[in-house]
Amino acid sequence: MPNLETPDELADAIADLMGSYDAHDDERCSDTRTSCRTCFVGKMTDRIRKAVFNEHLLRSKEVPRLALYFGPLRGPGHFMHGPNGESEGGLLAQIPWWDLGLLDAGLLNNRKIPDRPDGRVHWVAGGKPDLWFGFFWWDRSEDERPACNSGFYVRGFGPAATAHERVLEAFEYACNVWPVVVDRQLYPLQLVDIKLVPEKGT
Ligand SMILES: [Zn+2]
Repeated sequence: MPNLETPDELADAIADLMGSYDAHDDERCSDTRTSCRTCFVGKMTDRIRKAVFNEHLLRSKEVPRLALYFGPLRGPGHFMHGPNGESEGGLLAQIPWWDLGLLDAGLLNNRKIPDRPDGRVHWVAGGKPDLWFGFFWWDRSEDERPACNSGFYVRGFGPAATAHERVLEAFEYACNVWPVVVDRQLYPLQLVDIKLVPEKGT
């Protein structure tokens, strides 16, 4: 067997195995089974690419959904919480591109969002190969000191190529995982700034 690394190399090898081909003929080559060699390799390459892409989508769908909460949960103090009492260090290690400074008001301050709680939820996307969403807002509902904020950090909503279309879905998922946070809010949470464009540097 030759060394096969790309879809067109594989299609070429299959063409060799398949045997004889006639010269190109527009009408006959529109039928996959009787294509000339060039057309056969072209169509087979497309099919292999599609199969590889679908495989990737399938695998990405298997990334379990997870919604973390950063903020005050029982009394003041901002920490990262998992739905099943996971350790904070392990949770933070899953999203290293958002360090504590960013989680603790940094993402809001970077956007120059004034520290006036109003329920408006801002968001960011980051991470590879799985995309994570961060949803964050100023929040005095548990810890009443200035600069207090809350955030949901969510994964499992598709590979990076398609996940941006699922921002709302991810936010609603997080709200369902953390009713204790949503229900105590002084202002109903409302997702703002929905723009379906990946952000630079995240
Ligand atoms: Zn042909």
